[in-house]
Formats: sequence, structure tokens, C-alpha cells
Amino acid sequence: MNSPQQSNGWRGLCVTKYFAKKTACTNGHLHASKREAKRCDQLHRLQQGREIEGLTIEPKFEFVVNGKPLKMGNGRVASYRPDFTYMERGKLIAEDVKGFVVRDFPLRAALFRHLYPDWELRLT
Ligand SMILES: [Zn+2]
Repeated sequence: MNSPQQSNGWRGLCVTKYFAKKTACTNGHLHASKREAKRCDQLHRLQQGREIEGLTIEPKFEFVVNGKPLKMGNGRVASYRPDFTYMERGKLIAEDVKGFVVRDFPLRAALFRHLYPDWELRLT
């Protein structure tokens, strides 16, 4: 993720719109945005109240097709990294906090849903 830039004229405004300021939550993780940090605190409270369990921050789901990892041009395995995963009333939830939709998100979401059918993808 790109780091936030100084706001200097239209270019700065344009950049900050898409790359929100990194923010730490009360648990000390550095999140991509203030919104994401706030949601992390909320999810930790839900876990303390036993409404959810197994909260994980940014786990990586690699895409494996016909038994082979799906490799991109640069040799890296294509994957999807939701902001959080947890279990809610016996259901596996992968949650993405989207202030905006990243360009390749629809494709990643489609692959994730296809390859990990046991998981519910939730956008908040
Ligand atoms: Zn956090």
C-alpha cells in the first residue's frame, strides 16, 4: 500500500482520496485507514463479548486452481487478503472494510468465493 502523501494542490487531494491515512487501533496494529482501525476495535469488543471468535487480522488466502497455485506474471501466487476473518454463530466470515473498491477487487472477490465456498465474504 502506498503511504499517504502531503496534500499540496489538486494532486495531493486526489492521492489522499484513494490512499487513506494509516491508523493504529487500540491493539496496536497499523491499519490501512481510520475506518479499518475503528472496525478492528469494534470486532475485538465483539470477541470479548463472545459474539464472534477466532478474530484474525489480514490473513492471506492463496488461490489454488486444479491443485496448482495460481501464479501471476511476477511469480507471486495470486491471493486475497481480507481485512479480518472470524467465526460468527458457526459461520466463517471474511470481512473487508471498503471505503472505496480497489480496481481488481471484483476479480479477487469472485475467485475467493469460488475457491473458498465455506466462507461468507462481507463488505462493511
Ligand atoms: Zn487492529
